[in-house]
Amino acid sequence: MTAALAANPTRRLVATEEACAFAEQVEAIRPLAAHPGEDPDLVMWSRFLSPNYATVMRRLLDLEDERIGIMDQAGIDMQVLSMTSPGVQMFDAGTATSMARSTNDQLAAAVARRPTRYAALASIAPQDPEEAAKEIERAVTRLKLSGVIVNSHTRGQYLDEPRFRPILEAAAALGTPIYIHPRNPPFPASKVLDGPYNLYGAIWGFHVETGIHAMRLIVNGVFDVFPDLQIVLGHMGEALPFWLYRMDYMWRGRLKRTPSEYVKNNFVVTTSGVNDHAVLQFCHGVLGADRLMFAVDYPYQETMEAARFMRTAPLPDPDLDKIASRNAERVFRLPRA
Ligand code: MN
Repeated sequence: MTAALAANPTRRLVATEEACAFAEQVEAIRPLAAHPGEDPDLVMWSRFLSPNYATVMRRLLDLEDERIGIMDQAGIDMQVLSMTSPGVQMFDAGTATSMARSTNDQLAAAVARRPTRYAALASIAPQDPEEAAKEIERAVTRLKLSGVIVNSHTRGQYLDEPRFRPILEAAAALGTPIYIHPRNPPFPASKVLDGPYNLYGAIWGFHVETGIHAMRLIVNGVFDVFPDLQIVLGHMGEALPFWLYRMDYMWRGRLKRTPSEYVKNNFVVTTSGVNDHAVLQFCHGVLGADRLMFAVDYPYQETMEAARFMRTAPLPDPDLDKIASRNAERVFRLPRA
């Protein structure tokens, strides 16, 4: 570890992948999660709804004192809120479309109550791409939300597929970023993660699923059609930064750029859930200081630890300022403190 070790206690921290849940979401999941079968998202939710996860569930549902108290304790200035995975994407199209609207209204109200503490990403229901495109427009222009979140696949389909084109068109036209957040791979392909100590969820399954989603956008030419579209990935880029050399070496297709050039120009990566200075330095070296943003992954990981990780990161001060807050202000068009 080198130099600068600037444990600046006053550095502004904007956390960009911070989960919340809504009563109507939980009530819609509850009957489904009572009989989860082999659906990995329902198995996950049946755990969340058990007494062991009471603290997580309480913190997901809270946008008031407990959340703000934990932010204050750790010196987090602002959270960029988003509905927890897999959001509305687990429901039928009608339910999902109306729940996206209703919960986006609630997010906008939470931001309006605490405009210096919260920003939020809009949920959409890709199940109905035309309605999803309309909701992006409404959320960005009327509700003043700061971007869109999509929890990876929708019924086994990915955003590069032609039916989702209206969603990408709307995001590109408004210049609004899409945060591709993990969920488990679609069933039954997800069964490859089975085992006595299975690999579902955030230990591994989330990240291969989301990395595949990002690579599909690249190799299927999305960024040649939408050259300015910005995709945000959590978890230090879902392993893409690690593979840049090899993805270019093995690339045989025809695009305007090499795969790694799209990673460096069309993606912004957050630190969510990976409080590891070596990985941060690696991503900083590969992507540069303008394409990294701080995140905690509240309430699933520890806010204090993430804040300490960010404040003590062994990078130059001006780069830390970008990663801790300035890049988020640019990408999500947040009010600058
Ligand atoms: Mn998360």
